[in-house]
Amino acid sequence: MSTDSQLRLVWVYPDLLSTYGDRGNLLILAHRAGLRGLPVASVEVRSDQALPVDGDIYLLGGGEDGPQSLASQRLLADGGLHRAVDRGAVVFAVCAGYQLLGNSFYAKGTECRGLELLDLTSDRGPSRAVGELAGDIDSRLGLPRLTGFENHGGRTHLGPEVYPLARVTTGIGNDGQTEGAWRGKILGTYSHGPALARNPALADLLLRWATGSMLPPVDDAWPDALRKERLSAVAS
Ligand code: GLN
Repeated sequence: MSTDSQLRLVWVYPDLLSTYGDRGNLLILAHRAGLRGLPVASVEVRSDQALPVDGDIYLLGGGEDGPQSLASQRLLADGGLHRAVDRGAVVFAVCAGYQLLGNSFYAKGTECRGLELLDLTSDRGPSRAVGELAGDIDSRLGLPRLTGFENHGGRTHLGPEVYPLARVTTGIGNDGQTEGAWRGKILGTYSHGPALARNPALADLLLRWATGSMLPPVDDAWPDALRKERLSAVAS
């Protein structure tokens, strides 16, 4: 965490990367930090602005193909996200934001260069993956089942340098088998919804990575009820 002990949340390019309620991820992180008495500063950085490098958690959302390739070009030119990662920042990326962290992805039929922060590539699938997404998360992360909503045309193939975030039980995720990826303090997922409203334990993992400390438990009756409802909807 930064020296002034405020948790700095950086929402990357909301003008390009913010579909299906992804802004909720920023709100949930700020809310859950606040419940633990952690002071938070949220910064929204448009794609025509320089990315601050002193953030603690960087959030990238989903986007259609055009905005996605523009976002990738601008992030590569800016270089700030790489510098932030080098200083140990946490990155949480959804769908288009997740794909562009990889080595390459397809947008509008063209192969685009990614940021090479995660060892993965994305290409196009036979059909669009739309609907509920659920999976059993990598046990090393100690999280309950992932639940979310996916809507993407791409399929993602993981290289040896990353771990799958989850094994898919409902939906497609990366390729029908695995969903999302993580390495170090960078984590990507196809789960919209927004992901952190539906997976508050995932929000707490990001907060733990950013602060380097355990967090006291909070009353999760409401998000637990939402999770139960969504997970039972896919089980039936
Ligand atoms: N454009 C990407 C795809 O279709 C990402 C879509 C999204 O972010 N929802 O695969």
